[in-house]
Amino acid sequence: MKKSMKFIIIIWSILLIGILIYFNKDKLFKQNDYTSLGYSEKSSQKIKELNISSYLNDTYSKTLDKALENDEYINDYLQDYIKINYIDNKEFIKSINDLLKNNYKVDEINNLSFILSSPYYKYEHLNSYLEYYKKNKDKKDNVVILTNIGLNNDFYTNIKEIKEPDSLLVLVNKYNKLPDDYKPNDLVEFDTKYMISSKTRYMRKEAHDALIKMIDDINKEGMNLWLNSGFRTKDYQNGLFTNSVKNNGMDHALIYSAKMRHSEHETGLAADISSVKGMLDGFEKYKEYTWLQNNAHKYGFIERYPKGKEWITGYAYEPWHYRYVGTEVASKIKEENITYEEYCVKYLGYY
Ligand SMILES: [Zn+2]
Repeated sequence: MKKSMKFIIIIWSILLIGILIYFNKDKLFKQNDYTSLGYSEKSSQKIKELNISSYLNDTYSKTLDKALENDEYINDYLQDYIKINYIDNKEFIKSINDLLKNNYKVDEINNLSFILSSPYYKYEHLNSYLEYYKKNKDKKDNVVILTNIGLNNDFYTNIKEIKEPDSLLVLVNKYNKLPDDYKPNDLVEFDTKYMISSKTRYMRKEAHDALIKMIDDINKEGMNLWLNSGFRTKDYQNGLFTNSVKNNGMDHALIYSAKMRHSEHETGLAADISSVKGMLDGFEKYKEYTWLQNNAHKYGFIERYPKGKEWITGYAYEPWHYRYVGTEVASKIKEENITYEEYCVKYLGYY
């Protein structure tokens, strides 16, 4: 054989070996690769670095994978991670680390999925969720929403000052108060043909226009609606609350009236309406009330303190109190049969 022929064979052999090595490099150089079990590249690398492969039992644990991948892995909890069912929640590992630190057992953690899998879950409130659940086992399915509303605290405690009081979607209740100096700047006066009291005859422009349209439409159907009370100044609200306490006692006042800066009437977006001039009690028996139940959302209004939801809103059933939130939000609230508090947690990210 000629020398040059030998040379060509050698070159071709080297090339062939090179190609074989190239296409099998994963098998040849990554003997301990856990990506084949399902672990990410990064987790796989860490499993090698930490030398914990013997605990894996050749199976995949998504909880362990995420702990390693997010740099939230704590060595003491390795065997727990493997047994904890993963929940797709970006604060999951942080949360279970806290629970494990507080001596929660794996089974107990797996049983807390009703909290940890809630789309409204917020890590910083984990302890509040657990405390609320301890006292309200019957509310298991809604622990996160109810705690986010603030119901783990008594009414008029843990009060926050509202940051955007001018928002048409402002939430004013016993946990959220208006800033001391707030007054809406687009109040519009109602024509006397719509209203009863001259003291509270204003509402914010958008709510005013919507209410007029609603009253005009119900009138066309041969029914009546009157504005009993629209916007109230904080002093006026304070007077109402003080009188209520004087006349009916504190317990009654707390569920039928609002402390100043805690009343929706101070936003100019709420209205007390009824079918008989000056009369609110018993409004639910009138056909106008039934009409509102079916139609108020089309004008952007919601019944704000419904029957059966007193424990959420903090107010007695008030069939006459309507709140303007716009047609889209009002329709959603009607469709889901929820309170405005629940809406704020579910769709506006409130805690
Ligand atoms: Zn009212």
